[in-house]
Amino acid sequence: MLGAHLAAGPGLVKAADRAAAVGAMGLQIFTGNPTGWARRAELPKELPAFRARMKEHGFGPLAVHAAYLANLAGPNPVFREKTVELLRHELRVAPEYGASFVNVHIGSHMGTGIEAGVARVAEAVERILDGVPVTDDSALLVLENSAGGGNGIGENLDELIDIHEAMAARGVDLSRVAYCLDSAHLWGAGIAMNGDVEVDRLVEQFDKKIGLEKLVMIHYNDSKAAHGSKLDRHQHIGGGEVGTRGLAALIRHPRLAHVNYYLETPGMEAGWDKLNVERSLQLAGGALKLKPLPAEEPTVPKGNPTAAKPSSRTKGRATKRAVAKRSAQKRSGANRRD
Ligand SMILES: [Zn+2]
Ligand SMILES: [Zn+2]
Repeated sequence: MLGAHLAAGPGLVKAADRAAAVGAMGLQIFTGNPTGWARRAELPKELPAFRARMKEHGFGPLAVHAAYLANLAGPNPVFREKTVELLRHELRVAPEYGASFVNVHIGSHMGTGIEAGVARVAEAVERILDGVPVTDDSALLVLENSAGGGNGIGENLDELIDIHEAMAARGVDLSRVAYCLDSAHLWGAGIAMNGDVEVDRLVEQFDKKIGLEKLVMIHYNDSKAAHGSKLDRHQHIGGGEVGTRGLAALIRHPRLAHVNYYLETPGMEAGWDKLNVERSLQLAGGALKLKPLPAEEPTVPKGNPTAAKPSSRTKGRATKRAVAKRSAQKRSGANRRD
């Protein structure tokens, strides 16, 4: 499943249609201002239509990305309360959107040390989950790795494992928690992921210490920042420092077939979304060489570039096999214009 993070501001149904039009098979959204705490008191009126449209498109799981201000690891009591409240809110409303995941950056220990930060993450997750009743359609709380800058926690597997164990020790219901790895963050954090061998090692380690079933999301981004720079700078697929070998290894790994991939690459609504979906599918289909990125913005019209209505072409195609097949078609030129 390859989805894209698109702006929901112009409308949720519009975002779903755009995702389909650019060839994505799923969607990640913000439910409100990503750089603000406030969340709307009333849910959008178009939610039933949005859920229906997601189904019509045959999309994979919807992910809600929590606001960037959330910090599970920080010491400031005021911001901790706001973080707990924000994430409770996102988890409570997630089923209304039809979302399976509420994804959050783990946050920063703000100079207080990793150990203290890890303990605070576990405590915050426990409080968040205690404040949200479990239902049939509850979303998972999905913790995302950090690039490591600004005292970010979770920059390597050891820190993710520490957090996982600290939650287990507190008796947190781990069936409600999962993980997201962002490839640009892995790169910024200095984790080896240049090719099959390196990605394989990462996958095996994750499986041994946390369990691969707990890896439910990958944020599929190239990185503008250098390896080990601790910087979080997303770049177009195959246009950055990670390169196609590492990115291909990540999207093709046979043990990651259950994982949902979401692009968070730049310039989505400006037309780069279509290009990055195509490039990702090419890598998924076995290509290692991609065309150079255009110097200018791709000439895809803004808004909904092609047919907005769900088509039989997109129905029920949200599988990795479909990704590979469509990509193969594209390479053979059979489907060049879709
Ligand atoms: Zn991310
Ligand atoms: Zn990032």
